[in-house]
Amino acid sequence: MDSVLPLSDLPDSRLRGQRALVSVDYNVPLNSEGEVSDASRITATLPTLRRLVAAGARVVLVSHMGRPDGSPDPSLSLGPVVPILREELGVEVGFATERPGSPELSQRIESLEDGEVVLLENIRFQPGETENDAELAESLGGLGDLFVGEAFGAAHRAQSSNVGAARIIRERGGLAVAGTLMETELRFLSDALEHPSRPFVAVMGGAKISGKIELIDAILPRVDRLLVGGAMANTFFRALGLETGASLVEVDRIDLAQELMDRAGDKLLLPVDVVVATEIDASASTRSVDRSEVEESDRIADIGPRTRSIFSRVLEDARTVLWNGPMGVFEMTPFAEGTMQVAKSIAEANDHGALTIVGGGDSAAAVADARVLDRMSHVSTGGGASLDLLSGKSLPGVDALSPAAEVDGSVDEGVESHGTQGDR
Ligand code: ADP
Ligand code: MG
Repeated sequence: MDSVLPLSDLPDSRLRGQRALVSVDYNVPLNSEGEVSDASRITATLPTLRRLVAAGARVVLVSHMGRPDGSPDPSLSLGPVVPILREELGVEVGFATERPGSPELSQRIESLEDGEVVLLENIRFQPGETENDAELAESLGGLGDLFVGEAFGAAHRAQSSNVGAARIIRERGGLAVAGTLMETELRFLSDALEHPSRPFVAVMGGAKISGKIELIDAILPRVDRLLVGGAMANTFFRALGLETGASLVEVDRIDLAQELMDRAGDKLLLPVDVVVATEIDASASTRSVDRSEVEESDRIADIGPRTRSIFSRVLEDARTVLWNGPMGVFEMTPFAEGTMQVAKSIAEANDHGALTIVGGGDSAAAVADARVLDRMSHVSTGGGASLDLLSGKSLPGVDALSPAAEVDGSVDEGVESHGTQGDR
């Protein structure tokens, strides 16, 4: 399937009075008072919810939070989300703790008025959600005439609330559309790879190569430059025969790093210097050294100043930038500079008209730390889902949606569902 049907293609007349089961990702952090400490995942769904409410749909929201084991855990209740939705939407938002499949819940949904909203309690309080259990899917699917997939962050997993329920609704003749957040994520994360303006520069870092091999594989043939930092670079250093001291290295991936280097040729830029310390600690004293001067007791924790300027220069000329993975242990001030510099250089490229895309939870946090969030074209809300999509894998939560062709006149206007495999 090439493209999915976006909510924005449906006229209000297809929404009014319809029960819309909306799968969202409200897996938000709570503070010690049990309040939502970062509401960005909620805020990200507001355009979809406002559209549905304004069009007079009857909105049923389903999400998970944390990892309860299929039974209720009061500390993981979605209750704290309700007041935020009320305030943002300016409408009454109900909270349904009744069990999916129970007559009480069905009655409650049946009695919703046009434009009303109800949030279901954490769906992982029910057994079977994470296994895409058919019975739970049936119960959830029964609550909607229309399915709206908005849980991009969960789209790489097939669960009852984002895949099974969509299938049930489609089997009964209903549509399963991509919400606005889902649509935006798909558009940015596949356009970058399908039709990049050049030079196209990818910046990769983070802790491990192993989690990102597929992404490197998929991205390498498409980019003009691949800049590598973070602990990931250490494994490449070992392949070059360099001393890495006490740094994080994936010894079983040294051959792979060698193979990637051979394949990448001069597309690949590794750090030429690094910041080292004997302890990775917020009060550590650090040294910047050439990559050939790392000592046995050293830990590599950031890219060095010469590397920062080389990377910045490459980024300045980029027309498309994809960034995944910090350049160092950016959570600690002594090792944050490389990551901050990369964030700022990407923001500058953006100011000059480049398309700039950031994927990965820690990279997104680094962009926020560098205060350049609003100078990026797109910061993905989905960690694993964005990596899978960029790696060319299809996402179950996207494949479950109706093809764009399902509504008259929208055949060519859908959103690409995935973009890195094959030559389209
Ligand atoms: P993202 O969430 O953006 O995909 P990752 O989870 O892959 O990024 O990597 C982020 C983690 O990598 C951070 O916690 C950071 O401290 C760590 N990291 C980066 N460079 C190093 C390094 N040189 N040594 C140890 N850890 C590192
Ligand atoms: Mg991470």
